[in-house]
Amino acid sequence: MTARRLDGRELAASLRAQAALAVDAAAANGIAVRLAIVVATRDEGAAWYVRSLGSAAARLGIECQIADLGAAAAPGQIAAELARLSADPQVHGIVLQSPVPAGATAAELAEAIDPAKDVDGANPVSLGRLAVGRPAFAPATAQAVVRLLDCYEVQLSGRRAVVVGRSAVVGKPAAALLLARHATVTICHSRTPDLGAVTSQAEVLVVAAGRPGLIAAAHVRPGAVVVDAGTSAAADGSLVGDVDPAVEGVAGALSPVPGGLGPVTTAGLLLATTVAATKGDVGTVR
Ligand code: NAP
Repeated sequence: MTARRLDGRELAASLRAQAALAVDAAAANGIAVRLAIVVATRDEGAAWYVRSLGSAAARLGIECQIADLGAAAAPGQIAAELARLSADPQVHGIVLQSPVPAGATAAELAEAIDPAKDVDGANPVSLGRLAVGRPAFAPATAQAVVRLLDCYEVQLSGRRAVVVGRSAVVGKPAAALLLARHATVTICHSRTPDLGAVTSQAEVLVVAAGRPGLIAAAHVRPGAVVVDAGTSAAADGSLVGDVDPAVEGVAGALSPVPGGLGPVTTAGLLLATTVAATKGDVGTVR
């Protein structure tokens, strides 16, 4: 068996087209859609991501302002900047770029982001709302998982889903979104004994551990749908996921890295910014 490729690029293009229409509609009402990104790191991967998000925003006519506070920024300074942007009526969406300096977690700092502008679902209030089925912006990567599955008409209701990873940005919200779609969800993490015994039960397997090759072919149920959220830099500088390439021979469908979730994540974040700008319906998960 060769797994069907869950390519995210076409879906991303359609999300960008929706976002472009919303930008035009906002402009007709005198609103210039604006995204603010707060950066407090010198991490190269983060810098690359911020640059690519900024240029993707510019291509859609979304103004992107970057507040670079430097890697030595104090937690209070970062929280104050997030609060200032939350109060600025010209700013519609706010992203706090990870990693953040030692001394505070991204979740703590993100409490300063107004949930109405929290387009990457980083404020714990957003995650709480997701968990109880209230309208909220979901973290873009978690939202991208369900969008990609929907795009390929993967049935979720009643199916056994396993999520590897329990971070607040990917694993937990992805599990909440799958649960809201009536999947039977198990979350695994670094202390899950015999990970492969659990993942091989999954009809839908979502992997977000940041460990290249963590999921081998033997860990995957034949015919399973596998979504790889992992993005790590390989020795040659290329981007690799968490799923071993040999899984292609066992799974029924597999999202590639790159070209799977990544483009859907970026486009979804920009679409969410237009929703925030136009006070549109952020949606409920159930
Ligand atoms: P994270 O905060 O480091 O969380 C990783 C999770 O994986 C943790 O819950 C950890 O368990 C678990 N884990 C680590 N090693 C494991 C193992 N050997 N067995 C089972 N579970 C294990 O990372 P994250 O922010 O969620 O990101 C995860 C991956 O997604 C990274 O590669 C990141 O680059 C990628 N990502 C991609 C996008 C995108 O747009 N595609 C966006 C965001 C993140 P513990 O909780 O027990 O430590």
